[in-house]
Amino acid sequence: MKVRLLRHTPDPEKTVAVAARLCYSPVGVDELNEKLGDDEIRKLVRFVVNSGHLSTTEHISFTFGIEGVSRALTHQLVRHRIASYNQQSQRYVKFRENFEYITPPSLRNNPKIKERFDYLIREAHKFYMEMLDNGIEAEDARYILPNASETKIIVTMNGRELLHFFTVRCCNRAQWEIRELATQMLKVVKKICPTVFEKAGPNCLRGPCPEGKFKCDNPPKASDFDA
Ligand SMILES: Cc1cc2nc3c(=O)[nH]c(=O)nc-3n(C[C@H](O)[C@H](O)[C@H](O)COP(=O)(O)OP(=O)(O)OC[C@H]3O[C@@H](n4cnc5c(N)ncnc54)[C@H](O)[C@@H]3O)c2cc1C
Repeated sequence: MKVRLLRHTPDPEKTVAVAARLCYSPVGVDELNEKLGDDEIRKLVRFVVNSGHLSTTEHISFTFGIEGVSRALTHQLVRHRIASYNQQSQRYVKFRENFEYITPPSLRNNPKIKERFDYLIREAHKFYMEMLDNGIEAEDARYILPNASETKIIVTMNGRELLHFFTVRCCNRAQWEIRELATQMLKVVKKICPTVFEKAGPNCLRGPCPEGKFKCDNPPKASDFDA
């Protein structure tokens, strides 16, 4: 899996702080923008995030380029609606020599199962190519390709959606691949925005686990999400 931060709002923590301060200040935007020092920025950001005034974090956004993930992962990712996506097309791109797929780690210790997994994917891909060679359009031939098919996607989320995304997808209840993606994304944004994402991650980092009978035995620590 390759996760690259392509772009983000410049000065993101200051942007959140200016938005927060504006709500309570009699002075104008220019003055606020000039006057805020680093300490005050940190204080304001911590205050709004901890008190749940999260609309201020909607002013900052982050664009990630993600490669080497499965279609199983992106199907889950795009369920997050407050985001923008562009994904490599299986209609316009034909996967001949360039067909790759993701193998779940659980198969690695089971050579017999892994062998059969690889065999069936190779067979599916062979038939995919046979369909293309027989004039079937890629948009129809792709129906035989597996969830494991490798894909690339660009996603942009604002700070508020990222906080939500990290809450549900860094949790041990989340599926391993999207959890790995969310963890990598959190490590990246935490470096740029350490105060906004100070307590980001699953609910159990901030309070009791809400998962009831699905509660895990090995909850992550905040430091697991440090770069
Ligand atoms: C462990 C786990 C298991 C899952 N299992 C399943 C499953 O079996 N089947 C399945 O279908 N999905 C499943 N999902 C996906 C899940 O149901 C959500 O679709 C996905 O996590 C997107 O999150 P979301 O809907 O909270 O918010 P997002 O789409 O990320 O939106 C963020 C927030 O905006 C608000 N919001 C967004 N859209 C609306 C709206 N239309 N109306 C009101 N408020 C809105 C909500 O507060 C929402 O939490 C699972 C997710 C997880 C983490």
